[in-house]
Amino acid sequence: MPAKIIDGKKIASSFLENIKKRVKEIKESPGLAIVLVGNNPASEIYVNFKEKTCKEVGFYCERYNLDEGIKQSELLNLIDKLNQNKKIHGIIVQLPLPKHINEHLVIDSILPHKDADGFTPLSLGNLVNDNNMLLPATARACIELIKSTGQNIEGKNAVVVGRSKIVGKPTALLLLQENATVTLCHSKTKNLEEHTKNADILVVACGKPRFIKKGMVGKNAIVIDVGINRVMGKVVGDVDFESVKEIASYITPVPGGVGPMTIAMLLDNTLKAAEIAAKM
Ligand code: NAP
Repeated sequence: MPAKIIDGKKIASSFLENIKKRVKEIKESPGLAIVLVGNNPASEIYVNFKEKTCKEVGFYCERYNLDEGIKQSELLNLIDKLNQNKKIHGIIVQLPLPKHINEHLVIDSILPHKDADGFTPLSLGNLVNDNNMLLPATARACIELIKSTGQNIEGKNAVVVGRSKIVGKPTALLLLQENATVTLCHSKTKNLEEHTKNADILVVACGKPRFIKKGMVGKNAIVIDVGINRVMGKVVGDVDFESVKEIASYITPVPGGVGPMTIAMLLDNTLKAAEIAAKM
């Protein structure tokens, strides 16, 4: 039987409905600042979508489109102003940044309680300490999508392909928090398919179009495809959806899987930050 499709768009929209309700319960609208540097077409699409969704749920949104050649010091000044701005509860800087800008320095300059993406060292350190303040949005999205299947994570073999700071590592840590037995694979992993085939839960974030094929997936696995790749004008994931859906029990599509859920988690982080600010 072909895999059941995990409809990220539908699941995200029910999270967004819940966010809308919570927004009405707090005095001041949550505020999100979105900073985009340069004209990377993919980044522009992501930012447009984030801004649109932000407004739909009743957030206050400030968007900054900055010139590709902006000086690092000017960008840091802007972050500093946003850190001080009481109307702004969450700040995201769309990655990647141009090469002349030190990405770490910029991300590290965001105040941890405004870190809507969950990328600052404090947010990542909190995650290691099982203190779930503002978690990396894509990692949270993966966990919510796995939970939406109704299957238990505890005790399962979970394999994550990709160890980036923003996706692979935090996803592995969250799976560990859920008591899965976690294997984290990367480009130097030997015999990758021996690991992936053994997975009850397989999360793929390696940035390689249709990299995971049917023969690399175990029967009845839950497959979460984080990848977003453009191939001949089409958006495809890191999993070969058509072949893998024949063997998996559940699978996320691309587009319409992890992407929309990531945005819902980003807004949920911003709302959480606004709720904390309102209590202070
Ligand atoms: P990244 O920083 O480029 O990291 C890729 C990871 O994959 C690295 O850890 C790399 O290993 C590993 N890798 C590369 N080739 C491999 C191979 N042959 N076998 C096993 N592992 C391999 O990418 P990322 O930022 O994590 O993003 C991954 C994908 O997710 C991209 O397609 C990106 O567009 C997408 N993405 C989607 C969302 C969303 O909301 N849906 C959010 C973020 C990213 P090494 O560490 O050894 O180099």
